[in-house]
Amino acid sequence: MEKLIYTFDEGRSGNKELLGGKGANLAEMTHLGLPVPEGFTITTECCMNYLADASFFEKQLKAEVLKAIQNLESETGKSFTSTENILLVSVRSGAVFSMPGMMDTILNLGLNDHRVQDFAKLTNVNFAYDCYRRLLQMFGDVVYGIHKEQFNVLLHQMEKRLNKKVTDFNEAEHVELIESYKNLFSKNKVAFPQDPMEQLFEATKAVFKSWNNQRAKVYRDLHNIPHHLGTAVNVQSMVFGNSGEESGTGVVFTRNPSVGDNKLFGEFLINAQGEDVVAGIRTPEPIESLQTILPEAYNDFIKHSHKLEQHYKDMQDIEFTIENGKLYILQTRNGKRTAKATLKIVLDLAAEGLISKEEAIMRVSPEVIDQLIHPVFDTEKLTAVDAFATGLPASPGAATGSIVFTADKAKEYTALGKKVILVRQETSPEDIEGMVVSEAIVTSRGGMTSHAAVVARGMGTCCVTGCEALTVNESAKTVLCGNHTLTEGDMISVDGSTGSLYLGEIPTIVPENDQSLQQLLTWADECAELKVRANAETLQDLQTAIDFGATGIGLARTEHMFFGEERVLEMRRLILAKDEEEVQAALNKLLSFQQEDFYQMLKTVQDKPMVIRLLDPPMHEFLPHDANEIKSLADQLNRYPSAVEKQIEKLQETNPMLGHRGCRLGITEPLIYQMQVKAIFNSAIQLAKEGLTICPEIMVPLISEKAELDYVKSFLTETIEATFKEHQMEPFPYEIGTMIELPRACIIADQLAENADFFSFGTNDLTQMTFGFSRDDIGKFINTYKEKQIMQQDPFQVLDQSGVGELIKLAVDKARQTKENMMIGICGEVGGNTESIAFFQQIGIDYVSCSPYRIPAARLAVAQAVLK
Ligand code: ADP
Ligand code: MG
Ligand code: MG
Repeated sequence: MEKLIYTFDEGRSGNKELLGGKGANLAEMTHLGLPVPEGFTITTECCMNYLADASFFEKQLKAEVLKAIQNLESETGKSFTSTENILLVSVRSGAVFSMPGMMDTILNLGLNDHRVQDFAKLTNVNFAYDCYRRLLQMFGDVVYGIHKEQFNVLLHQMEKRLNKKVTDFNEAEHVELIESYKNLFSKNKVAFPQDPMEQLFEATKAVFKSWNNQRAKVYRDLHNIPHHLGTAVNVQSMVFGNSGEESGTGVVFTRNPSVGDNKLFGEFLINAQGEDVVAGIRTPEPIESLQTILPEAYNDFIKHSHKLEQHYKDMQDIEFTIENGKLYILQTRNGKRTAKATLKIVLDLAAEGLISKEEAIMRVSPEVIDQLIHPVFDTEKLTAVDAFATGLPASPGAATGSIVFTADKAKEYTALGKKVILVRQETSPEDIEGMVVSEAIVTSRGGMTSHAAVVARGMGTCCVTGCEALTVNESAKTVLCGNHTLTEGDMISVDGSTGSLYLGEIPTIVPENDQSLQQLLTWADECAELKVRANAETLQDLQTAIDFGATGIGLARTEHMFFGEERVLEMRRLILAKDEEEVQAALNKLLSFQQEDFYQMLKTVQDKPMVIRLLDPPMHEFLPHDANEIKSLADQLNRYPSAVEKQIEKLQETNPMLGHRGCRLGITEPLIYQMQVKAIFNSAIQLAKEGLTICPEIMVPLISEKAELDYVKSFLTETIEATFKEHQMEPFPYEIGTMIELPRACIIADQLAENADFFSFGTNDLTQMTFGFSRDDIGKFINTYKEKQIMQQDPFQVLDQSGVGELIKLAVDKARQTKENMMIGICGEVGGNTESIAFFQQIGIDYVSCSPYRIPAARLAVAQAVLK
């Protein structure tokens, strides 16, 4: 039989699968000689065995747990069942991946009506009953699903009736309170087991079962954690942070998890136990104060935290407890952090020599980069408004939305397309689904390591905690702040970097491309093979793309040059022209507009390559449809509205996306493409004369047949040559290539390559045409497809490797047979997607092209594709 239980001295950190993250790290810390209370870990396999067949517990596990407890008794010299020298334990869940607050912990296990009295003799009455009370509450909650709050209500009722705090109760009063807790159990038709072993068995089973509770499932889905891993159970001898003024408990990050500074960051509470810090019940003190309150414990902590960081080579999130001045480490893990801190920390660790450049690149996920370039409030607009309240800056970012007070409301509002800010006294794991959909989270209580803060940082959601000026009344749906009363639906703006809250909506801007990001991306560029280009055409986007480090422009669309009031009129004049003269007039106008556009675009990108795609959309997109517009167009063109209407009707298509568009239009109306290349070369020649080296890359869309390309290319070349002549200019190099976006084009890629200088895969249309799904309508069924597990992902966001990907691979192989060194790129949404990038790397693509804001993440992803 497999080994079911490992003591902390037996385990190894490499064994996370089996021991869970917490168990593996407790074992590792034990080996490092850190002060970890003794204990043992029941493996994740036991969890899965039990969930598959409950009889496993009776038949196999029970006897092993008994043995492990006996072993723990002899190790600690205490007893779990007798009334002398009392051993109490905690039962702590621990999955392979850390899931903060997602599963349940029970402390002080082993107390009962008799043992609590003996325990009180050993310690003191107040402390002993504090432990017992907590045990009943946690046990009731975890094992029997009696909500924690119901116990608190009983506590507060009694405090009110006796008009004193629980800490001032006498023994009889404590016993009365315990009795009322036990009555709560009876009301729920259960009883609190008096036998410590029974408690341990029930608690273990409950932790196993918690693996499948709703909030744990939601968290796993959110973070792509598989559901089959199970949780381990750690049973550990208790140390008591609630045993007086020289005791306490705390949570510390070895570096700042918000900004990454190499300085301890954390909080503690004196005379407190377990989750008091995280639950945000009392506002904790900063870790620095521990130095004056309990200097010895503080110094020990510094020593141990340093050791842990050196050992794990990463920022640690450490939970500790001090019992009568002596420090114990109860947990360590790689700390969750913001995007900003992630970057700062990997760069610092690399500079400190703890990790290599490659390791630094691999440790940052492309999503983190996305977050780094996300918006902050426009500082100018900020100076004009005053914050109405300020709390702790728990997770940076800026967000605006309507106030909601419950997770359910948050879901309800967001389902209607509204942006919400979740405002609560404090959050708890039950709120997770509401937190996921919120733009920001605000709590009136709790510190920087409260549940809200930790979860928000993990999700990259803006968060302000401990905003004590707020009085949140969740049932009345109001929040009071000084003389303001805000109600559900009111708009506020939240700055998670400063902790400030503002009334109304404040515009956001995207932050500067900062130094540290540059540093990491420069390292990434050094190992990358795939180049990253941008899809951009407006001058602003082109500039942004270059600032973000695009090596060129993979797709500059030209549609925008035909829109805008003046331009679309000329385009309409062209389409509806009644004679040659009118055609020429319209074309000349369009030419002069576009010439200026191309001049500015080429000048912006300078010597970087830019692929310019000739006009692609179907004609009807340029024509008016409602009667008023048609009338006004007719006026402008000096025609009868009925005549214009008739013409428009004739141009209607049943399936415009499959219709008269792309090169098909170029072939029936060559004048438009000729005008476009003329505009391109007029401006390119002008810039060449000004001293710039330019090599225009012209891309013909929607080719499905070689003859199409041959025909278009021949008249384009003619026009280009004529343009050089007109300017008396010695021709400079240029390229004419094609967009591959139809399955047929992939199949005949070898033929197309004969007459194309480059290829660029238009994966949006290619996906559309391969699946026969319209990109604009996939929203109507993709969610059902995902739920019914017909498709895992939206193929417009993540490349469908086995279908569309195979077509691309086939086309690349064929093209390279014809022209070994032909430049081949990808332009389409998936060009910025990490998973898809890894595939493109494998099949020998030269560059990916994506929208400007995805460039930094793509630069990292292309490097990771090589390092993996
Ligand atoms: P989580 O996974 O939610 O962090 P833990 O298992 O770490 O849950 O338990 C929460 C807290 O309970 C710990 O941070 C610690 O303060 C307290 N705790 C757990 N086990 C013990 C123990 N053996 N002695 C004292 N406190 C404990
Ligand atoms: Mg917990
Ligand atoms: Mg913990």
